[in-house]
Amino acid sequence: MTTPSETQATRGDYPEHYYPGTEELGENEMRIVALGTGRPFLRRSQANASWLIELGNGDKFVFDYGFGSQMNFTALEMPYSDVNAWFATHLHTDHVGDFGQVWVGSWAGGRLEPLEMYGPSGLEPKYGFQHFAEKQMESYAWDTDTRVGALPAIGAEINIHEFDYSKAHVVYDNNGVQITSFPAVHLFDGAVSLRLDWNGLTFVYSGDTTPSQIFIDNAKGADVVVHETFNTIEQLMDRSGYDERTARAIGTYIHSAPQEAAVVLKEVDPRLAVIFHFFNDFDTAPEMQAKVREHYQGPLAMATDFMVVNVTKDEIVTRMAEISEHVWPNKSKHEGFGKAERKKMTELSPWLKEAQLFPKFPSDRGLVNEDEL
Ligand SMILES: [Zn+2]
Ligand SMILES: [Zn+2]
Repeated sequence: MTTPSETQATRGDYPEHYYPGTEELGENEMRIVALGTGRPFLRRSQANASWLIELGNGDKFVFDYGFGSQMNFTALEMPYSDVNAWFATHLHTDHVGDFGQVWVGSWAGGRLEPLEMYGPSGLEPKYGFQHFAEKQMESYAWDTDTRVGALPAIGAEINIHEFDYSKAHVVYDNNGVQITSFPAVHLFDGAVSLRLDWNGLTFVYSGDTTPSQIFIDNAKGADVVVHETFNTIEQLMDRSGYDERTARAIGTYIHSAPQEAAVVLKEVDPRLAVIFHFFNDFDTAPEMQAKVREHYQGPLAMATDFMVVNVTKDEIVTRMAEISEHVWPNKSKHEGFGKAERKKMTELSPWLKEAQLFPKFPSDRGLVNEDEL
């Protein structure tokens, strides 16, 4: 596993690697885990965009849930019900593609309360988060209706919170945690960046954005700032085979080029700057880093999946998580699972039922009819 190529933070007293489930978070500490750091082209080493933020008060939040990111979330072996809320920065698939897995995976994984999901509005209702979430749910009717008889029915529910994309405002305020959304400049109205403030610590996540004054104004002085940058134009042409026009469109018009992100990071001046949303390989990282260093000389981490950042007032430590590939759902909060209410099971048509070798009867418990075995 690669490590972030340049980290000026100290290691402090932390173990060399982060083993999920073995380290209690200090009451004044924040932990950030990169669940997805790659590009819309999904690859095993880097899932699509996603960041987990854990706080010393026990609260946990996920910012974006692009394709593949949920496989990394489950590798942390954390109960799904521990996540207070899920936030989307915009409706590109590489940021919300794992919607179905967040919803149904967490349900099958033991969640016993409705999912709390937040996302921005758009210029028209059809471009907003509410529309997206409702249509996703509607399209999965077969899935939901076949599960509500077996799994706790409440797991099918989502509380959808759509907020105004067009201004900087607090969209979540609970238990000492404030999450602020502000507009991102990314192709079309409706994309946002997010800022989380808790206990004197601030985390800012760009989502996708080209460099903007709005970002500088809202991120200034933050402890940890995650800013997107795409691979360099040369890398996009050479490695992805894009023509120059396409490479420039993607690398600078739609996203931030590394040297552009660096200009923003210099202005924001965080305690730790993190860049992501590029293929971070041994042969692309040096050029990416050199481009950032044209304008930004502060502490820098070049993110890859499972990079972990511990933040306190005194220090910021970056490490890699060590995870297992063979995880089962964390069952520590499953006490209520057996008792939770189910709905009626879907029933097969008689001709399909008749074809069943071992007859079963739909009931509240969905058991095999053992008399007929
Ligand atoms: Zn995007
Ligand atoms: Zn993206």
